[in-house]
Amino acid sequence: MNKKTVRDIDVNGKKVLVRVDFNVPLSSKNPADTITVTDDTRIRAALPTLNYLLDNGAALILCSHLGRPSTAADTQYSMAPVAAHLETVLGRPVQMADDVVGENVTAAAAALEPGDVLVLENTRFHPGEKKNDAELSQQLADLADLYVDDAFGSAHRAHSSTEGVAKAIQAKGGAAVAGFLMEKELSALGTAVTNPPHPYVAIMGGAKISDKIKLIENLLNTADKILIGGGMANTFIRAQGHETGSSLVEEDALLEAERLLKMAGNRLVLPVDFVVADTFDANAEAETVDADSIPVNKMALDIGPESLKTFKQALQGAKMVIWNGPMGVFEFPRFAVGTNELAQLLAAQVAEGTEVIIGGGDSAAAVTKAGLAEKMSHISTGGGASLELLEGKVLPGIAALDDK
Ligand code: AMP
Repeated sequence: MNKKTVRDIDVNGKKVLVRVDFNVPLSSKNPADTITVTDDTRIRAALPTLNYLLDNGAALILCSHLGRPSTAADTQYSMAPVAAHLETVLGRPVQMADDVVGENVTAAAAALEPGDVLVLENTRFHPGEKKNDAELSQQLADLADLYVDDAFGSAHRAHSSTEGVAKAIQAKGGAAVAGFLMEKELSALGTAVTNPPHPYVAIMGGAKISDKIKLIENLLNTADKILIGGGMANTFIRAQGHETGSSLVEEDALLEAERLLKMAGNRLVLPVDFVVADTFDANAEAETVDADSIPVNKMALDIGPESLKTFKQALQGAKMVIWNGPMGVFEFPRFAVGTNELAQLLAAQVAEGTEVIIGGGDSAAAVTKAGLAEKMSHISTGGGASLELLEGKVLPGIAALDDK
């Protein structure tokens, strides 16, 4: 990684603004309820960076977005429950600011001593955050001497608390560097993007191919095989001239699918059978059919057992695997088999020495639900950010950080 990290700077006696990803699930969306954090994985993931900075004599100002508030009046998205939770996992007092920026926040930040921790309000309470507003970026930068970005999941967005503040801190002579979580993400995903060990296999799933055409195209430059599952497989099956019944198919993307099939040759591995049903329903009766024999009145909702065997074969001997997107409608247990079995298969690959990276989002949720999270080499905390990185895009939050 060619970006500086917290190890490259002196933080002793400094005030450090840390952009964390504390976008955690909460117990209620009703502001009248007592709201608590129901899954603190993301808070715990930031602890190595926070403890390192505190142990090295810094005072911390933490900022994050939380949910999708329209305005600061959406108090159910206040960071206060997150600050309270952080206090227990960090084992030291944590102060909660009354706003993102402003007079009170400036005074609270100015009064911080080494070892103190202040959490700012939800950055999206400020209308400037998503606009990457220069004034907000400057106000955030004025609170601190240095900036640390540990929020990989937000790095694909050029917002005030990501790109804007990094530039504003640099403009006043301060450093803007990556935290340990960001470093870990960039090292795992960066290897997949720039110099993956071969054989390198990508597994793509999810609903739509239109979102992922660029991604598949870019992966064809590096991956030896791309295995396709989920709803997006249907469009390829149709592009091959087969019946797809009432399955989700993107008519607009058929030409692109044809082009990718031609470009990829036998490097694109499609399902050979599907689990189909009459309706899109959790209790719909399921039946397994060959991929070229989907009945006209049925829809493919999962990949079938023969596809899993084909995928298993394609994964034999792989040195690196990246997986993004479910193999079927995994929200319905009856159609989650393909996704769960693939997770099992990948866990077994890790035991064989394959580096398996889970690209966040639904695949990460499925792996965690199956109790296999510990077994994978790396699970990304940023679904959108990891996809954009694999597409070959520059992530503004990362590009803005100091080069080594
Ligand atoms: P994405 O956000 O593109 O990763 O898509 C994830 C969604 O794709 C999940 O909500 C799945 O239910 C859905 N999905 C996966 N396979 C299918 C399928 N065969 N038909 C319809 N939806 C699917």
